[in-house]
Amino acid sequence: MSLLVVGSVAYDSIETPFGKTDRILGGSATYISLAASYFAKKINLVGVVGKDFADEDIELLKSKDVDLEGLQVDDSGNTFFWKGKYHYDLNNRDTLDTQLNVFEHFDPIIPDAYRDSKFVALGNIEPSLQEKVLDQVSKPDLVVMDTMNFWIEGTPDALKSTLKRVDLLVINDSEARELANEPNLIKAADKVRNMGPDSLIIKKGEHGALLFTGDEIFSAPAYPVIDIFDPTGAGDTFLGGLLGWLSYTDDLTPTNMRKAVIFGSVMASFCVEKFGPERLKDLNEKQIYDRYREFRELSQIPEVE
Ligand code: AMP
Repeated sequence: MSLLVVGSVAYDSIETPFGKTDRILGGSATYISLAASYFAKKINLVGVVGKDFADEDIELLKSKDVDLEGLQVDDSGNTFFWKGKYHYDLNNRDTLDTQLNVFEHFDPIIPDAYRDSKFVALGNIEPSLQEKVLDQVSKPDLVVMDTMNFWIEGTPDALKSTLKRVDLLVINDSEARELANEPNLIKAADKVRNMGPDSLIIKKGEHGALLFTGDEIFSAPAYPVIDIFDPTGAGDTFLGGLLGWLSYTDDLTPTNMRKAVIFGSVMASFCVEKFGPERLKDLNEKQIYDRYREFRELSQIPEVE
């Protein structure tokens, strides 16, 4: 099934305690697409880049069979640029610079060929733009959305309007508490699901993720990555792995949703091993399935009499 991905395509400059990079490919749509490309049969990307966007980055996306008809090239300026710095506690990062550039006037236009995409990934962009995307697609089977504190605080009405049209929301624990105005995560999940999304995933950074779907709660473990180099893009990569699996299997049962959460976690665990999207460039099926099995082993709970 085809997967429509809408979000930022960027250049990032990243500093972590383990090193720094100057200007590497980034952006939510990039990470989602690269991670999903290991599963999804057809990925339709919608985003915008500027005149500085490198041919080799176009080639990388093409090499992963990402369709770029929806990638607008705006010659009037440069690609969105983000600079961030992580401290020893890799959960915290400072944004040192954000240059919106051509992203400032981004108008997501969905090409005709993408309008019947069955799976839709709304990367972390302004909620009114996410809704604009939904106005242009016909009857998707699953709409998945990411968001962040910035929109929860800055544009709460637009966010609530978009949420009504979303099937699965993927956010982190602090965002869930803030959105629901409720410190208890289980109660917060209920409140958020009452705002629209049937299902909810709450990411807990290095501590795994919780899936709420139907009457079920599934707690996914976190993989003990020994060499975390750079957490940039881990959240988007999780989304890409999750949706890649769901669109590949075209199965939205709770059991398959659990598998999707683990495939999302698998892809995110690879992502953080190298700078930027480097590690997502040349994985193979065996590595991915082997790590899936390691995740299973991690959470085998023995029977008691
Ligand atoms: P994550 O680490 O999963 O939150 O995603 C990091 C990516 O988000 C980076 O590659 C950035 O280019 C991108 N990013 C940072 N700030 C923004 C923003 N305000 N809007 C859209 N994308 C952003």
